[in-house]
Amino acid sequence: MGMFLVFGGAGAAMAAPADNGVEGKTFVIGTDTTFAPFEFRENGELTGIDMDLVRAIAEAGGFKVEIRSLGFNAALQALTSNQVDGVIAGMSITDERKQVYDFSEPYFESGIQMAVAKNDDTIKGYEDLKGKTVVAKTGSEGEAYAKSIAGQYGFTVKSLDQSATMYESVKSGSAVAVFDDYPVLAYGVAQNNGLKTVTDKVPGGSYGFAVNKGKNTALLAAFNDGLAKLKADGDYQKILDKYLANPTAAQPTTFLDLLGKSFPALMSGLKNTLLVTIISFAVAMAIGLLAGFMKISHNIVLRGIATTFVNIFRGTPLLLWAFMFYFGLPQLTGQPINIWVAGVLTLSLNSGAYVAEIVRGGIQSVDPGQLEASRSLGLGYGKSMQKVVVPQAFKMMTPSLINQLIIMLKDSSLLLAIGFAELLYQGQQIYAANFRVTETLLIVGVIYFVAVMALTKLANYADRRFNK
Ligand code: GLN
Repeated sequence: MGMFLVFGGAGAAMAAPADNGVEGKTFVIGTDTTFAPFEFRENGELTGIDMDLVRAIAEAGGFKVEIRSLGFNAALQALTSNQVDGVIAGMSITDERKQVYDFSEPYFESGIQMAVAKNDDTIKGYEDLKGKTVVAKTGSEGEAYAKSIAGQYGFTVKSLDQSATMYESVKSGSAVAVFDDYPVLAYGVAQNNGLKTVTDKVPGGSYGFAVNKGKNTALLAAFNDGLAKLKADGDYQKILDKYLANPTAAQPTTFLDLLGKSFPALMSGLKNTLLVTIISFAVAMAIGLLAGFMKISHNIVLRGIATTFVNIFRGTPLLLWAFMFYFGLPQLTGQPINIWVAGVLTLSLNSGAYVAEIVRGGIQSVDPGQLEASRSLGLGYGKSMQKVVVPQAFKMMTPSLINQLIIMLKDSSLLLAIGFAELLYQGQQIYAANFRVTETLLIVGVIYFVAVMALTKLANYADRRFNK
């Protein structure tokens, strides 16, 4: 092993003496879900100024990028915990952020602005916000700005994770205004997103590409090199013009159009939902059987371990563990964790705790007389359990296990918070781009319902076959 490492290192050094440190490598780049015109989806594909920029720079520098559309705050968390190598998300270069991240040269001048619903004539400036609620994006400069003047003007700031939900809140009246970056608001208004801007923009915030402080220095240098090249040969301007000169993306018109355009992405989401559920359920069964038997064991240590396990995972929220495994653990170990591993750990440990209780309850519900009778017929403890007790217990456990499977399928939607591309996540990505929130959620809901019904039918069929 040591030998290979030595040879590998020497070989690489000899092969590329003038290596820029990034050639041939793949870097994972986190971004916002939707921040048009910087990042958004068109027909399922991520596009926008940031996307074009980072891809063009990667091409010029001979490296590859794998883009993760996580949401702004989640992208920053992912960067801090080394789950991604860099972030490009219309991210403003601020003094606070410079303490923890290193930024590229600025590539776009921005600033904060306030927008209200198009038909709202009551809010004309900050003075009209007294006693009202405004929305801003979690962890963003817009949020920081809104909070900085909230006391002075007497309004409340509610933080949301996504631009689409922010705009939707303003249109539906649960908030009266949104604070966001002006190029993004301007683009949305031009696309008829139902809002209008009413205040002057607050100058500030240039956008930069970020890496963790002191890390990925070669990537940062390559970004700066590439940016300089793109600026020099006019490609940078071409990218800007492509999105800013004519800000109208092709959006679905009718419901059927929306359904047709979103179906492929939703089906790939459904596939991931089903896959992560099935894998996690298998693991949860293994964990639950083990812990369940440990709970009824005569050994106090085994019982103690199983009880502690069940108490911990039944006593804490699923979402907490998703964050813990995906964002927390990598910070402790310094090793990134695969999102599937984090997802399966989260779902299976949580479910494992419930399965353990189902197993324990099932076995204890078999009349102790059954075991005694079997043993008095000369069968040992193990054989009696295997031939007499467990088959009866399993029959009683089955309905609860099917319940647990269905709960898990629905709970897997929580994994969207760590950017796992399951069904609801795909739905979010779609309405984040086209603002058709209600219809998209309706479609997603129907797909979940059909999936759960199908799974229930399948499980009941298996129950009838095996538990005769
Ligand atoms: N420019 C803002 C910030 O950096 C918002 C970025 C975003 O919402 N993607 O805070």
